[in-house]
Amino acid sequence: MLNALSKAFFLGLASSRPLKRLASRYGLRKPTSFARRFIAGETTADAIAAARVVQAAGMGISLDLLGESVLTLDEADAATRGCLALVREVVDAGIERNVSLKLTQLGLDVDHATAVDNLRKILALADAHEFFIRIDMEGSAYTDETLSIWQTLWGLGHRRLGVVLQSALKRSEDDARRVIEQGGRVRLVKGAYKEPKTIAWQAKADVDAAFVRMMQILLKDGTYPAIATHDPAMIAATKEYARTIGLGHDRFEFQMLYGVRRDLQASLVADGYRVRVYIPFGREWFPYFMRRLGERPANALFVLKSIVRER
Ligand SMILES: Cc1cc2nc3c(=O)[nH]c(=O)nc-3n(C[C@H](O)[C@H](O)[C@H](O)COP(=O)(O)OP(=O)(O)OC[C@H]3O[C@@H](n4cnc5c(N)ncnc54)[C@H](O)[C@@H]3O)c2cc1C
Repeated sequence: MLNALSKAFFLGLASSRPLKRLASRYGLRKPTSFARRFIAGETTADAIAAARVVQAAGMGISLDLLGESVLTLDEADAATRGCLALVREVVDAGIERNVSLKLTQLGLDVDHATAVDNLRKILALADAHEFFIRIDMEGSAYTDETLSIWQTLWGLGHRRLGVVLQSALKRSEDDARRVIEQGGRVRLVKGAYKEPKTIAWQAKADVDAAFVRMMQILLKDGTYPAIATHDPAMIAATKEYARTIGLGHDRFEFQMLYGVRRDLQASLVADGYRVRVYIPFGREWFPYFMRRLGERPANALFVLKSIVRER
């Protein structure tokens, strides 16, 4: 109950323009500023520097040039050019070639065909350099469209393109089976959006139970699934199930967010598991940041403390 309230509260604040303006001015201003804990910085150079640190600690990375819900074709075009520039800079930097992006960042709310075209432009360059591109999953209004775009591009031969499924949605187990049938790669998450009870589990226990069921389906029949969670219970269940079916540590990976449970990331690496860290960066960090606060109200306290310290 508290969980749902906190999620709704912070997701509500995420659409406040004055708050966004204020936060954007101060959030990343100094190395100690409050948003630095979860956002690598505003520039690609900041993200690449963070990626080098993560890779040096024995983990993989996925870079996310933050942005979502753009309202004009110009913004979608700018985001596409940003992703293309990111691909080139990652190649030049020689770090791991793995990027996550969102379809509403590429214009899905403005024009479906343009968003697909934009993604195809990115894939043309990314495929040439053997990148893996993960399409993040947004709110349930986009689930069908996102999966159908993935399906179309997969059918066109883009085999380094993965999707995300959310255990909070009741439909996701069926979606997992459909993606598995095609041989696609899934990142399993609980889901960061507030969804109606007609289509989504509301209680944490139900979301967790669905997560475990989906994890088992993906580990047993999927292609190199990513189990993306900071929840020790989900991680323990995954390790246990992999052991039971004799699945090697190289057949799946754990994924976590930059700045979240770094202790757990390190201990999984020490135990020989693969871990990938999702590294968000860029100027459009506010909605992402608010989702992180909604997941864990203690983070809001942490942010308040850093603001007070800085003044
Ligand atoms: C790599 C990655 C990619 C993701 N991509 C997507 C996506 O495409 N679409 C989508 O809807 N969601 C995505 N998410 C977010 C996901 O849906 C959850 O909202 C988020 O991971 C929190 O759920 P949890 O599994 O960690 O478990 P929870 O039950 O929320 O948390 C379990 C424990 O983890 C720790 N924890 C969780 N979140 C935080 C936090 N923000 N700060 C500090 N500690 C925390 C706490 O100790 C908490 O008690 C992604 C998550 C990861 C790790």
